[in-house]
Amino acid sequence: MIEMGAFVECGAAAISASAGVLAYAVRVPSCTMLAPSVCKGATTRAAIALTFDDGPSESTPELLEILGGYGVPATFFQCGANVRRLPQVAREVVAAGHEIGNHTETHPILCFKSTDFIFHQLAAAEMTIEQATGVRPRLFRAPFGVRWFGLRQAQQRLGLTGVMWTTIALDWKWPEHRVIPRLLNGAANGAIFCLHDGRRLQPQPDISVTLRTVREVLPKLMERGFHFERLTEILCPTKN
Ligand SMILES: [Zn+2]
Repeated sequence: MIEMGAFVECGAAAISASAGVLAYAVRVPSCTMLAPSVCKGATTRAAIALTFDDGPSESTPELLEILGGYGVPATFFQCGANVRRLPQVAREVVAAGHEIGNHTETHPILCFKSTDFIFHQLAAAEMTIEQATGVRPRLFRAPFGVRWFGLRQAQQRLGLTGVMWTTIALDWKWPEHRVIPRLLNGAANGAIFCLHDGRRLQPQPDISVTLRTVREVLPKLMERGFHFERLTEILCPTKN
């Protein structure tokens, strides 16, 4: 999830250090100064990648049902703490054919954190997710989209590729009548949509907007000729 508070906090510090460029590097999805990250898939196919952050949650199985009904694969950036709370749900995500990425252990804002802190957040989530699901994530998404010094090295040590997005759904704060057109407008070859099947570490979060949005958007995009790929596939330019 993204909150403007995080942006203002990071941005203000960056500007007071007379490094406006830093604010850009911390938050702009396409900037790779602080850590390499990709924010767009191959544009040679009419493919979109759905990504869901902050899970697993008690409502993730309902999302899996919707995706399964359309035969749509997705990528889930899970927090280690949520996986420890709901390991069975994390396993259901994998069993349904989806991909799991790393979204840190406890969803902290990484700005102003030490290199050690950042490494341990990523490493702990790798271990938690692998122990629960048998899958070791290869993809990473920073909480709040905020990257910081030390993240590059942490990603390298753990073999993680950072992934941002082309459209962030704002599904944690907007009603679906605003989220749905936002996603429909963002549809394009290689688009990466960022939605949320949890709300940070909150137990039993209300993700009804997300669920209603997915139900409505999937058939509309398929009618327009799009299909859906997991991140690993959409990031591969040579896949047929
Ligand atoms: Zn998040």
